[in-house]
Amino acid sequence: LLTATDLWKSFGDRDVLRGVSLDLSAHDVVAVIGASGSGKSTLLRCLGLLEPIDDGRILLAGSDISDPRVDANGVRARLGVVFQSYNLFPHLTVLGNVTLASRVVHREKRADAEARGLAILERVGLADKAREHPDRLSGGQQQRVAIARAIATDPELLLLDEITSALDPELVGEVLELVRTLAEEGTTILMATHEMGFARDVAHRVLFLDEGRVLEEGSPAEVFGSPREARTRAFLSRFR
Ligand code: ATP
Ligand code: MG
Repeated sequence: LLTATDLWKSFGDRDVLRGVSLDLSAHDVVAVIGASGSGKSTLLRCLGLLEPIDDGRILLAGSDISDPRVDANGVRARLGVVFQSYNLFPHLTVLGNVTLASRVVHREKRADAEARGLAILERVGLADKAREHPDRLSGGQQQRVAIARAIATDPELLLLDEITSALDPELVGEVLELVRTLAEEGTTILMATHEMGFARDVAHRVLFLDEGRVLEEGSPAEVFGSPREARTRAFLSRFR
C-alpha cells in the first residue's frame, strides 16, 4: 500500500532523515520507535505530504505521491493524520469537526455526512458529545474526536504521531484502546509511539529509527525481545 524508498530530509544543515525506506501492506500496523529527535515526526510528516522530501520516492497504492506534480491535497484526503496535539477546530462542534472534511473536501451532503459522522462518534464512544464544543471535553475525549475525524473519510492509511504523549496518564488508556480496536478491524496504521507496551502488543512490525535511519526492523518479539543492535538495546533499556 505504501512504499517509501531512500527518503532524505534535512532542515538547514541538519540531516534528519538519512535514507529511510519502509513498506506497508494493507492492514499492517507498524510502530516507529526511537529517541527524541530521531526523525519519527519528520518521517510521518513527509509521508503525509505535510513536509517536502529532499530525495527519495513515496508510492501510495502504486502511484508516486512524491512527484512534485502530484495533487498534494488529493493525496492528503486519502490519509488520516492525528498528532500529539489534537488540533480540533474550537468554533465547531464535535460533529462539525468530524464531518468537516467529508463536507468540504469530499463534497458530501450535510445530512449524509452527519449521519456517517454520528455513526463514527458512536464507534469511538462519543455520540453523546456530538453537539458539544471541543473545549468541554477531556483531553482523552478530544483525542478520540481527532481520531474520529481522521477516520471519517475512510482513509487508506492512518498516520498517528505520539497521539497519547500530551495526555494525562489516566486518559492514555481510552485512546490506546480505540487504536487497538481500529487495528483489530484491519485499519492500516503507521504510528510513532513511546508507548512500548502498546507497540509490543498491537503492532505487527516495529521500526527503530536512530539518527534518521531505520537501524532495526522486525516483529515486536524480535525488536523488543532480542534486539540485534546495541543502540536499540540501549534505547529500550530506558523503558524497563
Ligand atoms: P520526538 O520523539 O521528540 O517527537 P522525533 O523523533 O519526532 O522526536 P522530529 O520531530 O522528527 O523527531 O525531529 C527530528 C529533528 O529535526 C530534530 O532535531 C528537530 O529539531 C528537527 N526538526 C524537525 N522539524 C523541524 C523544522 N520544521 N525546522 C527545523 N528543524 C526541524
Ligand atoms: Mg515527534
